[in-house]
Amino acid sequence: MNDKYSILFEPVKIGPLTARNRFYQVPHCCGLGHVRPQAHAAMRAMKAEGGWAVVSTEETEIHPSSDLSPYAEQRIWDEHDIPALRLMTNAVHEKGALAAIELAHNGAHAPNLLSRAPLFAPSDISLDLAHPRQARAMSIREIGEFRRWHRDAVRRARDADFDIIYVYAGHRMSLLHHFLLSDINTRTDEYGGSLENRTRLLREVLEETLEIAGDNCAVAMRFAVDEMRGADGMQAAEEGRAVVELLAELPDLWDVNVSDWSNDSATTRYQPSDGYQTSYIEFVKQVTSKPVVGVGRLSSPDQMVSLIKRGVMDFIGAARPSIADPFLPKKIAENRIDEIRECIGCNICVAADNTGVPIRCTQNPTMGEEWRRGWHPERIEAKRHEQSTLVIGAGPAGLECATQLARRGYHVTLAEAADNLGGRALAESGLKGLGAWRRVVDNRVYELRQRANVDIYTDSALSAEQVVELAIKNVFVATGAKWLGNGLGRSNRQPLTPGKNISVFTPDDIMAGNLPADGPLIIYDDDQIYLGGVLAEHLSAMYADISFVTPASVVSPWTEHTLEQERVQAALMHAGVQLKPNCTLGSVPGGDAAAGSGDGVMQTICTYTGNRHTLPCASLLLVTERCREITLYDELKSMQDTAAIRTLELIGDAASPGLIADAVYAGHLAARDFEADAAVVERALFRREIISLKS
Ligand code: ADP
Ligand code: SF4
Repeated sequence: MNDKYSILFEPVKIGPLTARNRFYQVPHCCGLGHVRPQAHAAMRAMKAEGGWAVVSTEETEIHPSSDLSPYAEQRIWDEHDIPALRLMTNAVHEKGALAAIELAHNGAHAPNLLSRAPLFAPSDISLDLAHPRQARAMSIREIGEFRRWHRDAVRRARDADFDIIYVYAGHRMSLLHHFLLSDINTRTDEYGGSLENRTRLLREVLEETLEIAGDNCAVAMRFAVDEMRGADGMQAAEEGRAVVELLAELPDLWDVNVSDWSNDSATTRYQPSDGYQTSYIEFVKQVTSKPVVGVGRLSSPDQMVSLIKRGVMDFIGAARPSIADPFLPKKIAENRIDEIRECIGCNICVAADNTGVPIRCTQNPTMGEEWRRGWHPERIEAKRHEQSTLVIGAGPAGLECATQLARRGYHVTLAEAADNLGGRALAESGLKGLGAWRRVVDNRVYELRQRANVDIYTDSALSAEQVVELAIKNVFVATGAKWLGNGLGRSNRQPLTPGKNISVFTPDDIMAGNLPADGPLIIYDDDQIYLGGVLAEHLSAMYADISFVTPASVVSPWTEHTLEQERVQAALMHAGVQLKPNCTLGSVPGGDAAAGSGDGVMQTICTYTGNRHTLPCASLLLVTERCREITLYDELKSMQDTAAIRTLELIGDAASPGLIADAVYAGHLAARDFEADAAVVERALFRREIISLKS
């Protein structure tokens, strides 16, 4: 190990326990939870194997009145939940780490859709999700009941062999946080009013948790010191600090961050600096002698050392960096810094949880696959009989496929038509806010260039004949997809026919630097994922007159899942982009370019009424749908037998356009499956966790 990083590997005491180093995987959701306990245990254990000293669960519902269904969080409602949780503690302990559980009652954030229990809050308030339910102000008796539920959950957590038990007041998502916040807690009894009163319940719960935890467990306090809402919310400089002062020496550890979740898990698009929470949480260590863990997309070992040396934190907390690279601590310990797969801050991991499916990661395609496919982020089966492989296309699918084939020991020839490597990942990383996405390319190209068994050719647009001439019998075609320029998409199933004097552009044009000469510019986003909004933000600095037309009711609706939608829409509005939601785009009906009607204008068509409005248009950017680049693949397929090509695989966007994460995953899967037993590839896609029929 490089000496300058040895401070990161010092053991640190947490109450009665000792963590083996300063790497701490803080609680994070993963879409596995109580629904997929074996997958959950294997995923957490992988972090322990990768060197993390503490590995935590996600939010763990303590009672049916905190039921987050249909989301797959953790659950500890009664003793029947203990065996599933013990899968995790056993697996984590086996790899030498401490296991932490984040006990949670979500109050007015839990819809209780499964349990149909009443909703609880300090004061009457609507559920903070779009379900037709309201929470009621808890009576003193109900507050007592809640304390009992929490105590019971602590006992069960102890029985499930957790080492660290959390008390959770963060993200504006937990009852204990709600009691602290003056805009949610408007009580006039001893639990409301002054900050001391609003902190009362938290103190009681902390004290009771400590008492039950006893000498074998430590108690962590997770607290959001600042809501990042200025004077409208709790601020680190005022009440946030005061709460820490009131409870300073009570917990065994302070796990501090900012609220809400979109601020805590900020994307690089809106928060490019790693370590972005430091200025909010750095006061905490001045107030308490207990160890402090902080987060903020911390992947750089130099930054970590500086945070410890400057006394900002004792533990390097991580959710996303531990997802992107579960072996981050080991790589630092073994002086393999260049091999760290850095989080790109895209929140595809968050999107999985928000859509109720198992976690996935753009950078780490093995994330969530540890149990169901048996994938290990650092290990892959060695090659069998074949020697050489050809990967065509060096976008995310081709780069990942080539990297894993090379790791397996095959000779890899990687051919790319462009003069650079990276395909869409490189192209998109040139757009405003997406610079960090380049890490997808850089990490893989770095590794490929280290390997003697890899030959890389750029400026090499291969034809089918050239592929045959190369005489490599195993070919992976990752030629990607191009954006359509005819307007076909989700809403328009007939091509658009823009009138005279309208120049049409696609996202590929913009990313290649082929920009409209002048406005007015219409951006038509029928893709509705993220790219339309990114392009609008990118171009808003260059063109004064931009209209953003979309059939969706908001800009980039899919970015709700990555916690960005409000930011995207606000950025466009601040930039003066004219938003035209709930509209498809069409030409002037019966427009005749020769006669001048429909010349230099398009029409918006209301998706509800069909009402049309004319919009001036000199340039039209269509973000609608992609066309798979499969000409080469089809030609090779037709000559596969005569050319004696043994393996011919179409992967990535050329097979099924999707996210960069999907392309990386497809490349990884193809490399893993190459030469695998047919029975293994053909059997059910992956292991499933079937619900037991025992009652
Ligand atoms: P994916 O997301 O599936 O990796 P991309 O569109 O990012 O797809 O990348 C596909 C890459 O394939 C592009 O960089 C493109 O230049 C390259 N490519 C397309 N056709 C050929 C070809 N015939 N020979 C070599 N490279 C090609
Ligand atoms: Fe980071 Fe994106 Fe992976 Fe999440 S999905 S850990 S944000 S790289």
